[in-house]
Amino acid sequence: MAFGFFKKSEPKKEEQHNGPHYFDLRVKNIVSETKDAISIWFEQPADRKISYKSGQFLTLIVPVNGKEVRRAYSLCSSPFTDQDLGVAVKRVDNGLMSNWLPDNLKVGQTVKVMEPMGQFTTEFVSDKKRHIIMFAGG
Ligand SMILES: Cc1cc2nc3c(=O)[nH]c(=O)nc-3n(C[C@H](O)[C@H](O)[C@H](O)COP(=O)(O)OP(=O)(O)OC[C@H]3O[C@@H](n4cnc5c(N)ncnc54)[C@H](O)[C@@H]3O)c2cc1C
Repeated sequence: MAFGFFKKSEPKKEEQHNGPHYFDLRVKNIVSETKDAISIWFEQPADRKISYKSGQFLTLIVPVNGKEVRRAYSLCSSPFTDQDLGVAVKRVDNGLMSNWLPDNLKVGQTVKVMEPMGQFTTEFVSDKKRHIIMFAGG
């Protein structure tokens, strides 16, 4: 027992990992929100549910014209009420991915996605209720 104290312990699995996690997420639904915007809904992985905070974004990685393209899209689903992960994409004139997604992506396909990232978030704790006022521009 005493010798066990000096034994070099194996690093935990989480500690061995450097860099972000990647997931292959299945597209469950694609909703046409406006004439130039869609929302894409991904199924949570069965083996490891992705947790996220309001305000974070996903980085989608798709092959466009034989090149791997990655772009960030804010999560528009709620971590409190939505089962699936949603992002909304608005077409940008001559934009690579914002046009590729509505023109090519189909329900059932899988998309490589980087784990949720972003610091622009807040804690929602029921016993610390307060008013939050937000201004958005774009
Ligand atoms: C944290 C974060 C969150 C975001 N969340 C969202 C979101 O929720 N929804 C959303 O729709 N977008 C979001 N975006 C923006 C998104 O990541 C993409 O930037 C957007 O979709 C455009 O990507 P694209 O590949 O279509 O355009 P790109 O191909 O990157 O092109 C963008 C613009 O640059 C021009 N351009 C490209 N190359 C050149 C060049 N060589 N010379 C001159 N002009 C050029 C294009 O014509 C186009 O107008 C977010 C970005 C960030 C950083």
